[in-house]
Amino acid sequence: MYSKNVWKTYSNDELEKVMSFAEGYKKFITQGKTERECVRLAVKEAEENGYKNLDECSTLKVGDKVYATNKGKNFAAFVIGSEGIEQGLRVLGAHIDSPRLDIKQNPLYEKNEFALLDTHYYGGIKKYQWVTIPLALYGVVCKKDGTVVNISIGDNEGDPVVGISDLLIHLAGDQMQKNAARVIEGEDLDLTIGSQVIKDGDKETVKGNILNLLKEKYGIEEEDFLSAEIEVVPAGPARDYGLDRSMVAGYGHDDRVCAYSSFQALLSAGECKYTTCAVLVDKEEVGSIGATGAQSKWFENVIAELLDKTGSYNDLKLRRALSNTKMLSSDVSAGFDPLYAGVNEAKNSAYLGRGICFNKYTGSRGKSGCNDCMPEYFAEVRRVMDEGDIHFQTSELGRVDQGGGGTIAYILGNYNMNVVDAGIAVLNMHAPMEIISKADLYEAYKAYTAFLKNI
Ligand code: MN
Ligand code: MN
Repeated sequence: MYSKNVWKTYSNDELEKVMSFAEGYKKFITQGKTERECVRLAVKEAEENGYKNLDECSTLKVGDKVYATNKGKNFAAFVIGSEGIEQGLRVLGAHIDSPRLDIKQNPLYEKNEFALLDTHYYGGIKKYQWVTIPLALYGVVCKKDGTVVNISIGDNEGDPVVGISDLLIHLAGDQMQKNAARVIEGEDLDLTIGSQVIKDGDKETVKGNILNLLKEKYGIEEEDFLSAEIEVVPAGPARDYGLDRSMVAGYGHDDRVCAYSSFQALLSAGECKYTTCAVLVDKEEVGSIGATGAQSKWFENVIAELLDKTGSYNDLKLRRALSNTKMLSSDVSAGFDPLYAGVNEAKNSAYLGRGICFNKYTGSRGKSGCNDCMPEYFAEVRRVMDEGDIHFQTSELGRVDQGGGGTIAYILGNYNMNVVDAGIAVLNMHAPMEIISKADLYEAYKAYTAFLKNI
């Protein structure tokens, strides 16, 4: 096999870099539990590094560093290269949405002296993994007067957490006969948020107490849930995993691990020949659709702005810029799990600790829905990886006919860009606690940096 375990190749100096890079990442996913939070963190770090808001720049020149956001859920940062935009960009693209539960529009109800919130899950989850764990709430409540109330409950010191109950094993005789898809049903993923009864006129109510709390603390009424977007995510910080601290356990590695390493690579690559970009998109877990998904016209519009502000916009130049662009679609790969080895084909699996993972194609069954990267392009990528002494592996998603999945690669491929999937192997993908290797995180960061500089 071409790939090998990278841990044994590190000097002490490199080991220190691997471990310290992971510290920054742990902080990022601990604070970045939703796409909005990730954008907020990215904007802050971009500004600290001298990036300017594209909207506030009337002209751009070589070496300028700018960022753009879209509806609080997309982020793109650029460093203008010495070649014109028309010659194409070097793009790292990752998604910052992760599987979770969303609060419904009419969520709040009381039953048997509990107050509960109804949810609707987002993305592909094993529903039984989301019960009996501490959960946090993040999001916004948008009021009719135009004000937006930010919600963040469960991760700040002293905060309460919420959660979803499950039946005690003693009485689970019937439940245990159900198959795993049905053992916890979507409609039963309701969040317990209170149990204290108060006297409200001549009624005794738990819901009334919760509504009073919401009014006092956030100034919101029950009706304001109609225009709210509140996401339910695992509470608690990302942590070292394993006695040797070689891995990170956390929520949302898919795909914030690639988002973080891509953005850090952009920050560290500096000015390059071609204009460089890290773009973070939303809605990948539900098909990349809508205004904030990769299929949105937003990214194309931002490239048009770049052309305009460098003084050379026209439609043909925009098309050429997109078509000449080379991209890594940075998304996670399914890490080989020795407990479930049978779903993989060993030679073409992604292993934790063997470096960044490239997928020529993803898709299901007969590669359905995949972006099948041009081998000519991958040869170029492979050369740059080898020249940069970067550890990489190649894989596909499981055995043929076992399942499958997709990424944003094909969507940017539609512009005629050269795109290849490149990311980090994850164990427990889409579970509330996912696992990555710190070595892979560091190799991905090095790989993304080399790509921006040398492709
Ligand atoms: Mn993903
Ligand atoms: Mn995913």
